Amino acid sequence: MGFLGVVKKPHVVCIPYPAQGHINPMLKLAKLLHYKGFHVTFVNTEYNHRRLVKSRGPDSVKGLPGFRFETIPDGLPHSDDIEATQHIPSLCDSTRKTCLSPFRNLLSKLNDSSSSDTPPVSCIVSDGVMSFTLTAAQECGIPEVLFWTTSACGFMSYVHYPHLIHRGLTPLKDINYLTNGYLDTTIDWIPGLVKDIRLRDLPSFLRTTDPDDIMLDFVKGEVQRAKKAEAIILNTFDALEHDVLNVLSFMFPRVYSIGPLQLLHNQIPENGLKSIGSNLWQEQPGCLDWLDSQKPNSVVYVNFGSITVMTPEQLVEFAWGLANSNQTFLWVIRPDLVVGDSALLPPKFITDTRERGLLASWCPQEQVLNHPSIGAFLTHNGWNSTIESICGGVPMICWPFFAEQQTNCRYVCTEWGMGMEIDSNVKRDEVESLVKQIMEGEKGKEMKKRTLEWKKKAEEATYQDAFTLGKS
Ligand code: UDP
Repeated sequence: MGFLGVVKKPHVVCIPYPAQGHINPMLKLAKLLHYKGFHVTFVNTEYNHRRLVKSRGPDSVKGLPGFRFETIPDGLPHSDDIEATQHIPSLCDSTRKTCLSPFRNLLSKLNDSSSSDTPPVSCIVSDGVMSFTLTAAQECGIPEVLFWTTSACGFMSYVHYPHLIHRGLTPLKDINYLTNGYLDTTIDWIPGLVKDIRLRDLPSFLRTTDPDDIMLDFVKGEVQRAKKAEAIILNTFDALEHDVLNVLSFMFPRVYSIGPLQLLHNQIPENGLKSIGSNLWQEQPGCLDWLDSQKPNSVVYVNFGSITVMTPEQLVEFAWGLANSNQTFLWVIRPDLVVGDSALLPPKFITDTRERGLLASWCPQEQVLNHPSIGAFLTHNGWNSTIESICGGVPMICWPFFAEQQTNCRYVCTEWGMGMEIDSNVKRDEVESLVKQIMEGEKGKEMKKRTLEWKKKAEEATYQDAFTLGKS
């Protein structure tokens, strides 16, 4: 109760892991909570705050009454390069070792300055891989919910990392294990996952020979602490991942599937806040106009997300595969997509495809995937890209890069019937053949049908929630 018995708003502090694929869903959730009556403090790292100001202008982080942005340092050395993707193992190591203290200080600042405008913090929604926040929450007696921005099957795989380590399945005995068939070993003991899942389908961090590998240690620590949260939420829906969600609900006190968040976010009326975006890269204008000039279901959309990097040779294989498929395409090539030098496409590829290809550096992906001209998505299967593709009803060609993208790819292709996988050692002939199949072949038609069925189920999953949203 506040002054004169006025009930103060609940105040939620939302803190994402500082990478694009974590900030996007957390911001959507934060806006939904604000819409439902919460006062929100959204915590970015100082580095990402500077990037947002650069890519979207100062208004993007100004907030509104009842929705504030705050920052904490990420602990990495200061960098003037604010266009680049950060090194994930260094960022994981740095956040877990250095962010507790600034986060603790932020919580006391928020509570000290609490007024009728800013009520005291009543709960924390933290990214699942920022579990240091649980310590601060416990010290202040504030309940905390962990938001794992992965698929449920990805989360279940991570939960079993300590078992994989305990059974000696990772770290690998030597580097040859990456190529000698070892990764084809079937793991039939992870409850809720399909029984013929292979080591190669599990999150990629197990592909190390280093017993002190940062990511192995990081994942192990984060999943072990997950049990301390009041609840765990996942951006998925029950029809899609029923079996695994069912098992998770026996392993953790409270597990909620709250997705696809994108569909719920779309239900919020325009309120000044809805349009606040979180792109760390500047969107290239013109992509949607160009798509407007294309025929329905005629464009292959190619985008490997915010972290994937590839070699110059792989870039060239994708380029010739797309060119030889004779399909129209929108290809997003981040400035830092190619390792080492900047992306160099063969000049002949550029001239050959000028009439039917658009190259961009970053695009409004959700709008692109909902555009009627898009026929297929060549993706790395980051979970956001995957669920955004499902919501757009767009079948996928999958080239997973790292983390649980391998698990998402396995489920997309084999269990959900929405995609086809490209070999990690990508070759132009395979790209050409899969692009032709998905755009023109019988298999493509079948996958489109399946994807539209899943899209409908995703809409049904959010309908009930959307109804509740509308009532408040
Ligand atoms: N994204 C975007 N424009 C782009 C590339 C990516 O808006 O040109 C967004 C995309 O919609 C998704 C996020 O960035 O929400 C990427 O997250 P995902 O989990 O797919 O992959 P990650 O970047 O974490 O590998």
